[in-house]
Amino acid sequence: MPDVIVLVSEASSSVAMEAMGFKRGLNYLLHMGVDVGVITTDRSPSIRVMKKLVAASNKKVNQDLRPWLKSVSNHLYWPCSSANGDPEKCLQRWRSLLHHICGVHRWQEDGVEHVCHHPAMTEEQQRRKKWLQVESSAFKALKSVVMDNNLLRDLKQMARFKHTGSLEVYHSSMLKYTEKRLHFKYDTMRARTQLAILDHNANIGRAQATTKEGQPRYRYCYSKQSAQWVAKPIYVHMYTPSRHSVTTLWSVS
Ligand SMILES: [Zn+2]
Repeated sequence: MPDVIVLVSEASSSVAMEAMGFKRGLNYLLHMGVDVGVITTDRSPSIRVMKKLVAASNKKVNQDLRPWLKSVSNHLYWPCSSANGDPEKCLQRWRSLLHHICGVHRWQEDGVEHVCHHPAMTEEQQRRKKWLQVESSAFKALKSVVMDNNLLRDLKQMARFKHTGSLEVYHSSMLKYTEKRLHFKYDTMRARTQLAILDHNANIGRAQATTKEGQPRYRYCYSKQSAQWVAKPIYVHMYTPSRHSVTTLWSVS
């Protein structure tokens, strides 16, 4: 599908190139009769939310917000992953943050009672947490970010919880074949993109490697971004075609 490649010379910027490539790719799929049900992009509301909250919490009047930043960032993931495709449930779960952060774990909305989904807190935990006051500047700043109309609209979309992890994996494989520093001619770019796709497809279903005892294997890496050690799964070394795909290959030849 040569028409789906966008040349640098066609667009005014890399942002414009992305939009152009997206339209072209989608048109191609529609033209081929593909029934497109959902479109997933890597537009990430969580990054926008966190940028706004960090900026707000840097003001002295809002400093009580600072200890909550990580919890808010974690909370953003939960409504989307637990809503089972229900946009209203996703929004309700997102908004529940505004109650929890004030130490309220049971409340009413339009006559319906809601509760937090975390395990019950002990009196000691309840007493020690630095809950926000509804009248505080920190809470008002948080509320304006949480209830931002653009964000709420995006979250509704995210109730389907299509995240782009495998697309990002594909992009890193793509970089291996089509280095950004180098200039490639059209045919080369096309061939290299096809190689990246073959590589990606051959590796995508690899199972996690296990120890002799059958425990899943991990390696430990330091993430500079979060300044934490993280466990990453180790995958089995080689892609082994299943019996089914071997049979298919034979019948083709
Ligand atoms: Zn709570």
